[in-house]
Amino acid sequence: MTLKLDNLAIYNKNSAGKRPLLEVNVEIKAGEVVSIMGPSGSGKSSLLNAIAGQLREPFKQTGCIYLNTALIDDLPPYKRKIGVLYQDPLLFEHMNVGENIAFAMVQNKQIAASQRQTRIAAMLESVGLADMATRPVHSLSGGQQARVALLRTLAASPSAVLLDEPFSKLDINTRGQMRKWVFEQLLKRQLPTLMVTHDKQDAIAAGGRIIELPPC
Ligand code: ADP
Ligand code: MG
Repeated sequence: MTLKLDNLAIYNKNSAGKRPLLEVNVEIKAGEVVSIMGPSGSGKSSLLNAIAGQLREPFKQTGCIYLNTALIDDLPPYKRKIGVLYQDPLLFEHMNVGENIAFAMVQNKQIAASQRQTRIAAMLESVGLADMATRPVHSLSGGQQARVALLRTLAASPSAVLLDEPFSKLDINTRGQMRKWVFEQLLKRQLPTLMVTHDKQDAIAAGGRIIELPPC
C-alpha cells in the first residue's frame, strides 16, 4: 500500500492573502514513516485532518490524496481506511481496555465477531498488557494507555497511518520505549505512515525521510 499526497495544500479561509498554510508532495511506501516537522501553528494537525477526511471550517484543501491508485479525497472518513494516533490517547473512559479496542475492530470486516475477544487478548499480550482487557482505562499508566491507543488504531485494519505528535505527552522514560515500539508495529504491518511533529528526536527515531516546513 502507498499513500500519496499530490500537491495537497491547506488554506485558512480567514487569513489574508492566497498563500496556503502548507503544501505537501510526497509518496509514502509500505513500511515507511515520513516525518513532517514544523513549529506549532504551522498547520500540521490540519494536514492530517485533511487526509483523514476531518478538515473543518475555516480550513480548505486543494490537491489529491491517493491510497495506491485510488483517489480518496471524496470518501467519508470511515471509508478512507486511514488510522490516526493523536498525542492524547483519547480512549473512551466509559469503556474498559478491551471494549476500546473492540470498538475499532467492529469496522474490520476481516475479523468475525466471534473472534474478537481472542484477537484482543492476543493483541494485548503481544504488547505486554496481558489480562488487562477488563481493566478500566483510567487505571492504566500513561505509557500503557498510549499502547492501547495504538492497538485501537491498528484494530480497524487501516491501510495507512497518521501520527500527530504521538509522543509529546509521554514522560521521558516512556517516550524512548514507546517510539521504538510504535515504529516496530508499523513496520511489521508494512503500513505507510505520515508523522507530524515539532520534535527532531521523533523524526530521527522514525528513520524515514524528513520534510521540514518553512517557518510560518
Ligand atoms: P499545528 O498542528 O501545526 O500546531 P494546526 O493545524 O492545529 O497547526 O493550526 C494551524 C493554524 O490554524 C494555527 O495558526 C491555528 O491557530 C489555526 N487554527 C486552528 N484551528 C482553528 C480554528 N478552528 N479556527 C481558526 N483558526 C484555527
Ligand atoms: Mg497540531
